Amino acid sequence: MAVSIHEARAAVLEHVAVLGSEEVGLDDALGRALADDATAPNHVPPFDASAMDGYAIVAADTASATARLELIGESKAGSAAGVVVTVGSAVRISTGAPVPEGADAIVQQELTTLDDDATHVVVDGAIRRGLHVRPAGEDIRAGELVIHAGSLLGPAELGVLASLNIPRPCVVRRPRVALAGTGDELTDPGKPLPPGGIRDSNGPALGGAVHRAGGELTTRVRVGDDLDATVAVLRAALRDVDMLITTGGVSVGPHDHVRPALAQLGFREVFAGVKLKPGRPTTFAVNDEGVLVFALPGNPVSALMAFRLFVVPALDAMLGRERVVHPTMATADEELPGARGRTTIVRCRSSLQDDGWHVRPTRSQDSHILTSMLGIDALALVPGDRDAIAAGEPVEIEFVG
Ligand code: AMP
Ligand code: MG
Repeated sequence: MAVSIHEARAAVLEHVAVLGSEEVGLDDALGRALADDATAPNHVPPFDASAMDGYAIVAADTASATARLELIGESKAGSAAGVVVTVGSAVRISTGAPVPEGADAIVQQELTTLDDDATHVVVDGAIRRGLHVRPAGEDIRAGELVIHAGSLLGPAELGVLASLNIPRPCVVRRPRVALAGTGDELTDPGKPLPPGGIRDSNGPALGGAVHRAGGELTTRVRVGDDLDATVAVLRAALRDVDMLITTGGVSVGPHDHVRPALAQLGFREVFAGVKLKPGRPTTFAVNDEGVLVFALPGNPVSALMAFRLFVVPALDAMLGRERVVHPTMATADEELPGARGRTTIVRCRSSLQDDGWHVRPTRSQDSHILTSMLGIDALALVPGDRDAIAAGEPVEIEFVG
């Protein structure tokens, strides 16, 4: 019995756990999920710092109309002045430099004049205590929980981790994924195409999809339409992986050997078939070691759709990524085809208009038309109780990156 998309996703997530963690350098941590909460060992900024180029002064000195203050030193970014500012004195200071002891305000350079011999600075007007001082810990207090476990590390997170002096954050390790394409007809691009042969487009497409979804591709293999060969090739591909993805050979034809091969290799089917178009034969199986197998249909669009709908959430869950998918409604700008009893996934381009999101389907929506995937940014989900969504009607969409 085929299951619905939602049942299939729920069944996948029931079999997935967050993987273990590893330490990586900040330069390798982009896009990874943090495994542990990041807590601040120190204040950021670590000291009271100047927010301006100017002079560090005692604010009380400026209470009278004009203050003439003796210059007793300079505080530069990276080197403190090493003097104490007292009543009647000032220290030249740069943005980001430590505010010297005794000073309690910064007067910006533009509001001052320097004596001819540069020994004194004249300040006109009263300066408030604390002006242009960035207090230690203003951004982050020592002990504060700054980034939660599970957060995706983007450029800003990498910067914050650096400022917390965490050069090797603990991140969830990447799922190890093997890819196996099946089909006697498949030929690599760059090789001569025999009669009846076609290019293996799933290999590069799904390899890229695995990489983009945060997985580590351990191997990419191919096997012809033969049961014994399929068992042997899949057995080898399964070595030391968290997940195997196969394409093709999962339907009911006489040359479809993936399901029997998986059974021989000790895998148990969680579901075989999803009420989905394209992608109906999609099969999901697990073994006792918790290795996941997604057996995807061979049609390139079906394979990529099924990857998007089921494999991406599995990889997200293994990576400990908190990615919330907000169901969004959009207006169909053209009729969207449906299929009774199955959810039809229509590849679309979206646009934001005054009344909200709109979607328009790309090209022919047949499952062998791979160019229907070019330039898409949204999938429209036409429910199985509709033959079509008419132009102007609302439809549920999911954005794709
Ligand atoms: P199958 O699921 O094996 O019945 O294949 C369905 C369709 O997808 C057939 O037209 C296959 O030739 C095609 N196909 C299968 N695998 C690939 C692949 N790796 N690249 C491109 N097309 C494929
Ligand atoms: Mg085939």
